[in-house]
Amino acid sequence: MPLSKRSELVLLGTGGGPRIWAARSQPASALIVDGAVYIVDAGDGVTSQLAKSGIDTNAIKAIFITHNHSDHVADYGTLLLRTWQSGHPGPIKCFGPPPLKNMTNSYINYMDWDISLRIQHEARPDFKSMLNVIEIGATPSIHQDSNVKVDCLKVPHGEADPSYAYRFQIDDKIIVFSGDTSKSEGLIDFASHADILVHEVLNLDGVDAIIEKTYPGNDSFRQHIIQGHTTMSEVGEVASKAKVKTLVLNHFVPTGSPVLDKPDIWLNGVKETFKGPIIVGTDLQKILL
Ligand SMILES: [Zn+2]
Ligand SMILES: [Zn+2]
Repeated sequence: MPLSKRSELVLLGTGGGPRIWAARSQPASALIVDGAVYIVDAGDGVTSQLAKSGIDTNAIKAIFITHNHSDHVADYGTLLLRTWQSGHPGPIKCFGPPPLKNMTNSYINYMDWDISLRIQHEARPDFKSMLNVIEIGATPSIHQDSNVKVDCLKVPHGEADPSYAYRFQIDDKIIVFSGDTSKSEGLIDFASHADILVHEVLNLDGVDAIIEKTYPGNDSFRQHIIQGHTTMSEVGEVASKAKVKTLVLNHFVPTGSPVLDKPDIWLNGVKETFKGPIIVGTDLQKILL
C-alpha cells in the first residue's frame, strides 16, 4: 500500500564515537513526514548537515536523543540555539533519557549572554519557552501526532544506562533506530517486520587501532567498545531474526579507517547473516520510505 504521506529518511551523520575525524559526521538522522521534520540524535555537525541536506529547520517538530554519550548530543544545544536563531516559532519537543532537562538548562545558562542580548536588542521571542523537554520514563509509547507514532525500548549499551532504541510508525510503515546497543534480543522483537532497521555496527578488527591512536594499552576502553556495541555478523543476525525488509548500517566503528571503513567491508561483514537488502549508510544519504 503506498504511503499517503511522502516520507524520507536522511542520514545526516553516520560516524560512531567521540574522536575527531574528517570521514563522517557524528550520529544524527532526520525523518521527514509530509514536510514535518523529526531528528534522531544530534552529534557534532548536525546543523551544517541539515543545511547541506536542504532540510527546513523551521519544520522540526521533535528531537529524539537515544542516549547522552557525547557523539549523540555534542551539538544538541547548538541545534536548538541555531534553530531558534533561524526563526523557528516553536514549540520543539525534546525526548531523551535523564539528565536531558539538566543538560538543556545548562546549555541555556552557558549561552545566556548571547540569548539574553538577542532577546533584548533584536526583539527575538523567548528561547527557553519554545522547548518542551521530556525525559523518558517507564512508558514505551512516548509521542504521537498526525504524522508519527513513536515508541521506545531500553537497549543494553554497557554502562550507558539508560539507552534507547526508537520505533516510528508512519501510516503502515515502520522504521526503527537501534541507537547504540550491544546485540539485543529485545530489539529483535521491537523491530519485528520493520520496513527499515537503522542499526549501529562494529568491526572488531578496527578496535585495536582505535586504542592505539587514543590511549595505547587502555584495556577498559577496549572492553567498553567491544561490550557496548554490535558486531557486523550480530547486526545481520538481529535483522534476520526480526525479519526486517531493509537494513541500513549506521554509526560505523571504526570511522575513517583507510583500511576498514569501506562499503564492501561493511557489506561483506553483514551479508553472511542477513540475506535481505543492506544499505551501507553514508552522510547526507536520502532513503525514501
Ligand atoms: Zn555512539
Ligand atoms: Zn554510546
